[in-house]
Amino acid sequence: MSENKDPHVPQGVKFVYDFTEGNKDLKDLLGGKGANLAEMTNLGLPVPPGFTITTEACKVYLDSGEEPEALRDEVSAHLDALEQKMGKKLGQADNPLLVSVRSGAKFSMPGMMDTVLNIGLSDKSVSGLAAQAGDERFAWDSYRRLIQMFGKTVLGVDGDLFEEELEKAKKAKKVTVDTELDAADLKKLVTKFKKIVKTEAGRDFPQDPREQMDLAIKAVFDSWNGDRAKLYRRQERIPHDLGTAVNVCSMVFGNLGPDSGTGVAFTRDPASGHQGVYGDYLQNAQGEDVVAGIRNTVPLAELEQIDKKSYDQLMQIMETLENHYKDLCDIEFTIERGQLWMLQTRVGKRTAAAAFRIATQLVDQGLIDEAEALQRVNGQQLAQLMFPRFDEAAKVEKIGRGIAASPGAAVGKAVFDSYTAVKWSRSGEKVILIRRETNPDDLDGMIAAEGILTSRGGKTSHAAVVARGMGKTCVCGAEELEVDTKRRRMTTADGTVIEEGDVVSIDGSTGKVYLGEVPVVPSPVVEYFEGRMHAGADDADELVAAVHRIMAYADRVRRLRVRANADNAEDALRARRFGAQGIGLCRTEHMFLGERREYVERLILADTDEEREDSLKALLPLQRQDFVELFEAMDGLPVTVRLLDPPLHEFLPDITELSVRVALAESRKDANENDLRLLQAVHRLHEQNPMLGLRGVRLGLVIPGLFTMQVRAIAEAAAERKNAKGDPRAEIMIPLVGTVQELEIVRDEAEQVIAEVQAATGVELKLALGTMIELPRAALTAGQIAEAAEFFSFGTNDLTQTVWGFSRDDVEASFFTAYLEKGIFGVSPFETIDKDGVGSLVRNAAQAGRATRPDLKLGVCGEHGGDPESVHFFHEVGLDYVSCSPFRIPVARLEAGRAASSAKGSDNR
Ligand code: ADP
Ligand code: MG
Ligand code: MG
Repeated sequence: MSENKDPHVPQGVKFVYDFTEGNKDLKDLLGGKGANLAEMTNLGLPVPPGFTITTEACKVYLDSGEEPEALRDEVSAHLDALEQKMGKKLGQADNPLLVSVRSGAKFSMPGMMDTVLNIGLSDKSVSGLAAQAGDERFAWDSYRRLIQMFGKTVLGVDGDLFEEELEKAKKAKKVTVDTELDAADLKKLVTKFKKIVKTEAGRDFPQDPREQMDLAIKAVFDSWNGDRAKLYRRQERIPHDLGTAVNVCSMVFGNLGPDSGTGVAFTRDPASGHQGVYGDYLQNAQGEDVVAGIRNTVPLAELEQIDKKSYDQLMQIMETLENHYKDLCDIEFTIERGQLWMLQTRVGKRTAAAAFRIATQLVDQGLIDEAEALQRVNGQQLAQLMFPRFDEAAKVEKIGRGIAASPGAAVGKAVFDSYTAVKWSRSGEKVILIRRETNPDDLDGMIAAEGILTSRGGKTSHAAVVARGMGKTCVCGAEELEVDTKRRRMTTADGTVIEEGDVVSIDGSTGKVYLGEVPVVPSPVVEYFEGRMHAGADDADELVAAVHRIMAYADRVRRLRVRANADNAEDALRARRFGAQGIGLCRTEHMFLGERREYVERLILADTDEEREDSLKALLPLQRQDFVELFEAMDGLPVTVRLLDPPLHEFLPDITELSVRVALAESRKDANENDLRLLQAVHRLHEQNPMLGLRGVRLGLVIPGLFTMQVRAIAEAAAERKNAKGDPRAEIMIPLVGTVQELEIVRDEAEQVIAEVQAATGVELKLALGTMIELPRAALTAGQIAEAAEFFSFGTNDLTQTVWGFSRDDVEASFFTAYLEKGIFGVSPFETIDKDGVGSLVRNAAQAGRATRPDLKLGVCGEHGGDPESVHFFHEVGLDYVSCSPFRIPVARLEAGRAASSAKGSDNR
């Protein structure tokens, strides 16, 4: 019993599946490509026969360093069966069977081994192939392709060496495309290629067909642990132990002359979602030729003229696939002398707009239901649709394209350094900061700019990470643009020079870069949310109608409520239009700025109770009026008001500026008494670590009368609204509580003030008192804190800072790029909640809080409240609502709906 020898292999495991044995649901075992090849085979579509080596075999290889012993025998058995079916033998001299060896993991991943075609060709079988096909040129072309692909991907030879020889051969013959090389030329090329292999790989190109196949299979296994693949997995959180499958597929030939060819197609337009004929076709070509740009392809529709029979068959197959997968599919096919073969299919990528349109189109066609439609779109796509965009109808001059790193449409004058960006923007100019790459020194310039453009770096580069954090448009890695910061200019691929001050436009949603000012149009989706466009109107565009339908469904099924972070009536009204069900965070610090800062200054400087009370008295009516307006805008919906949170020095003048002013005055012997006191106060209040200093509830406890003034303003405003027949629903929230004792003191004072206001106005007031949970200690003692709190709102921004020990403003700009590159996390924990760390505190605090007080209301008001993945998490841990900035409300609504309906068991992509 030879199977028992290998300790890594459980008995009876099957390592190889014929294409007829698998199906599309076996992606874990057969990889995406293999599972779908099997599915097509079973649908009766023309797939060249073949077999798939499972991810299990790969896992054994990765664990033990050797292929499982049983694998070789199983491969032999399947190869035998394949040879019988095809009536040819692998690499046999007179009638060779050729195969391709193709990697295919569960998730499509960059860095995995490229496919090797034409395996089985050798010095001997090349003539057999020529005889079989009656075409000498074709045989030598296939052979040179094999040596080239095998040399590069299996033996690790630098691919350029082969390309250079090919170029030389074309030049020598004074031709431009490979099809113009004849058999003799290709034969010579084969000799050259073999020499390259010998020198570079230190071994001969293997002439034994089975050795070719085995080496290629092993190389696929090995590519699982290539650097690029590993990095990608780390960043995308794909487990390292999934392993890849390997597909061995009998060859069909698109390079057999003009009645052959290869193509790619979509079952619908991936940009609009419309049904139609979308794809490219290239005659007399093999494999990747069609996408490699070596010759000009023709639109798929032209295939109808070239080969009507295959075209009609293809159209029918595409319909079959759509009805079967119930989604847009993309496919790869080859035509060999008038015979159509299907080589791959999968559910295709699409634009954000198409995702919404296709989802509703499929509902209308009766292919999917609304619950499934909701899973076919996501919040990130909706967010993309909400950015203003460049007018598609405008005449534009595109000068380059990079990575769409942070969405939006930005127009401004080109500047090449941070200093100029700041200077120009101060004088009212709009600028685009252009750098090769950015670093922490560019931060001021990035803040000043409308958008950021770099010629280097990817989605996790400094520019990309920081721009996303700031919500600023960014295109990065636009490599064809040569940025010369010294000479303050940039050169495009065609030599156009863009000087400092020239206007450029960048599209952070597509990565496109334009010269000149491209007009920006508002997003129709935002127009719709704003109520300026109606989904039912005759001229409503298809996209808006689709968004409307899907949002309505999300609202019907979601359990999480969605509130807004808003601190003035204008934002509150917009939030309501966007569907907010209340305000989850009204920050009061903005109400203390501008002209009112003076009162705060006096409050801080007060020497006597009297002085302090005077300032508070001056602030009270102003605060009250703020709240009256807010409660009116949100009439009938809850409004959570957070008492003053930031460190006091934020309300005082800048320490350096003030020091200079005082010093200058002193030298003129003209020192101002008030400035001197102010300077002392600024020094006194200066903190090394303001984030962890005198702020939040600590302020309320240390500055007498501050919080009670705010509570009084809220209570009086509520009473006023009630008298005006309104329905104010204020909730008072205490920030930065670490222990229940802090909360109890503030609570007692607040209750007393509320009682006073009730007595004075004769209006009965029900004001909920609760706290933010934003310090680890608060989360850890949530059970105690809930005794004094009627609600918790998780402040996940500060909670993330304090749990990780990250000061966001410092770390994002300095070392997050390095962390992302090293794969320590795949996404910043400030963008998406860190479920394992911060998230587990949230989960436990929610449970502990509810154990103390079963009707404890739970929400979140950090920026995570509008982040798709985080919303799912908050749904799972049972919060009542999420609160986010007004523009993210639709995203949160949609994701809350998706979370609720995917919990019912739909396939979540
Ligand atoms: P990728 O994962 O990069 O799409 P594929 O395995 O699909 O790699 O193969 C690369 C190219 O080779 C594709 O164009 C595919 O259609 C073609 N190809 C793969 N196997 C065969 C085959 N057996 N016969 C002909 N063409 C093939
Ligand atoms: Mg493919
Ligand atoms: Mg906070």
